[in-house]
Amino acid sequence: MKVLIADAINEKGIENLKEVAEVVVNTSITPEELADTIHEYNGIIVRSRTKLTADIIKKADNLQIIARAGVGVDNIDLDAATEKGIMVVNSPESTSVTVAEHTMGLILSMARKISIADKSVKEGKWEKKQFMGVELRNKTLGVIGMGRIGSQVVNRCKAFGMDAMAYDPYLPEEVAKQMGVDLTDLDTVLKNSDFITIHVPLTPETKHSVSYEQFDLMKDTAYIVNCSRGGVIDEEALYDALVNDKIGGAALDVYEEEPPATDSKLFELDNIVLTPHIAASTKEAQRDAAIIVADEIIDLAKG
Ligand code: NAD
Repeated sequence: MKVLIADAINEKGIENLKEVAEVVVNTSITPEELADTIHEYNGIIVRSRTKLTADIIKKADNLQIIARAGVGVDNIDLDAATEKGIMVVNSPESTSVTVAEHTMGLILSMARKISIADKSVKEGKWEKKQFMGVELRNKTLGVIGMGRIGSQVVNRCKAFGMDAMAYDPYLPEEVAKQMGVDLTDLDTVLKNSDFITIHVPLTPETKHSVSYEQFDLMKDTAYIVNCSRGGVIDEEALYDALVNDKIGGAALDVYEEEPPATDSKLFELDNIVLTPHIAASTKEAQRDAAIIVADEIIDLAKG
């Protein structure tokens, strides 16, 4: 078997793969180079940089498996892969705790103004009065998308003494009960939450599902985090909500366009915390993701 590693993955996964396959590592491969060489490979491992479009997949005459080290497979044209009979695998469990921990970091950063206070101290200022925060204790967390990551965030917020409610039309009531959250409709979550966190996939249904109308329902003290996918929040509407103090603040790890334009209006605001799509970037999560997808290819190679 010949396998291309097209995006950087943990060394342990590559090491394991080498026991059963010829492995080519080219993590700076361009779309043109990929289109020209994809027919040489039986397997490919990607993260989010490499886009496996229908045009590229059409040329993948010998490809048996596409492995995405991580969760979302929105960079892979699944219809094209199915048409060619190519198996697509990912490692959805590998990053849940890591993304939940990043979400907690962003929640705490907003509640205690950590990133803006850090900037101020480094500028030689001592603006104690400006950085009055709020506690998480006794506050309400609202989760949109109560899956693997959403439920891990709830567990952590409960340890901080928070109550939790969630909107997830696909989650059975009994499962929500076991998770210790009140399952309700989106408007109720938006109206009653002090901290809102989004953990849904990007689909036609979720695209811009948090927009002007939804920001208008939120408390003017509410904080919102998006560590799911850019595009779920309408960034124009978010800017409007932040600049007009319709909400308390926001934190984003993901953007409608990545990286965002260098002159993004969001960069001008003090009430937003931004990270560069690193919610899944821990040594542990990346190691697990690489091992899991390598194992899928090893299983296929061994038949
Ligand atoms: P999951 O599939 O376990 O959970 C998603 C949940 O969203 C499910 O419970 C589903 O029922 C719910 N859902 C679907 N459509 C919905 C809608 N319209 N409204 C409300 N809920 C809806 O996925 P997960 O592992 O928890 O990951 C969630 C998302 O986080 C992924 O789709 C992925 O795009 C994103 N993610 C981002 C990073 C990052 O680096 N920032 C890393 C990993 C995952």
